[in-house]
Amino acid sequence: MDKLSVLNLSVRGKRVLVRADFNVPMNEAGEVTDRLRINESLPTIKFLTTHGAKTILISHLGRPKGRVVESLRLTPIQKILEKKLKMPIKKMDDCIGPQVTAAVNSLQNAEVLLLENVRFHPEEEANDEEFAKKLAALADYYVNDAFGTAHRPHASTCAVAKYTEKAAAGLLLEKEINFLNQATRHPKHPFVTLLGGAKVSDKIGVIRHLIDKVDTFIVGGAMAYTFLKASGHDIGDSKVEEDKLDLANELLREIEKQGVRVLLPVDHVIAQEVKEGAPTRITEGVDIPNGWKGLDVGPKTIKLFEGSIKGAALVLWNGPMGVFELPEYRKGTFEIVRFLASTQAVTIIGGGDSASAIHMSGVAHKISHISTGGGASLEFLEGRELPGVAALNDK
Ligand code: AMP
Repeated sequence: MDKLSVLNLSVRGKRVLVRADFNVPMNEAGEVTDRLRINESLPTIKFLTTHGAKTILISHLGRPKGRVVESLRLTPIQKILEKKLKMPIKKMDDCIGPQVTAAVNSLQNAEVLLLENVRFHPEEEANDEEFAKKLAALADYYVNDAFGTAHRPHASTCAVAKYTEKAAAGLLLEKEINFLNQATRHPKHPFVTLLGGAKVSDKIGVIRHLIDKVDTFIVGGAMAYTFLKASGHDIGDSKVEEDKLDLANELLREIEKQGVRVLLPVDHVIAQEVKEGAPTRITEGVDIPNGWKGLDVGPKTIKLFEGSIKGAALVLWNGPMGVFELPEYRKGTFEIVRFLASTQAVTIIGGGDSASAIHMSGVAHKISHISTGGGASLEFLEGRELPGVAALNDK
């Protein structure tokens, strides 16, 4: 990574404002249901505390839209951090203002202070300079470790970096970029990219950017039906983006012209309704009868896809192979995930639904890298510069 790293800073006695990504899923009882992002923020915080910094943590949670929303306070995060770091962490009810300034001024070396949800202020999402200056005034150095929000030009991810003495990447941000660079810069070959999920339109940029780097594209999930229809197959009532059929054809031609292999499903698990308990069938071949929807890849497809992943040196995976949220349509995603976990390849998983599928399947520990950022990893794989990274000082 060509940006300054937190490892390059002398942090003892310095006030360090860390933009973390504590935007975690919560249930109705206000409990955190997935701690991946909190766990992944710990290395940077531990580095700072063991090196005697005064650590000030800031994050957003959910979409409060610029107002105080009681259920979106960071109090549950404070409790989890206290347990994981085995130290008391003071939490404020705001992220700027005289009380916050006073709390920062009374911080001792190695102590940690957690500020309140930064999106309670509308200035955050507006990337407001004055608000960013107020955040920056709390610290000597700024460290961005919020990879999941690095694609958003917001005050605490972007503008703030201009107003501290130094602005560096945290250890998580650095790890994410280093892994994703393995796919976009000089990938090991054979390099297989597996794409799935809801829409072709979300993945066009990734296909275009990786087209001259990948050896095989594997396409599953709902997006496969747009490609199959564009290739002249019957897809019944499966989800399709009618306005993307020409584009899908064009992409298939471009992929072929580059000499890249593309694999689409050859059979499917189908049902008449996307509902738990609805009767399902497995198709003989590629075509799907009218009145039925393709909701998962079938057994022949799983074999085909696994055959092409076998022997790969690098596999990048983004988007589930079917409606994995329902048990009937989970098999394709889970079997392929387990197969991935058993290979010797470097395996990189984009965030969001693919990350939840990996965790549900119980093999997360065997994957080389699971990104904490769905949108951010997609934008990075499209070759776009992430504003939260661009804002940091060069090495
Ligand atoms: P994405 O956010 O693009 O990764 O899409 C994930 C969503 O795609 C999940 O909620 C899946 O249920 C959905 N999905 C995957 N395959 C299908 C399919 N064959 N039909 C409908 N939805 C699907």
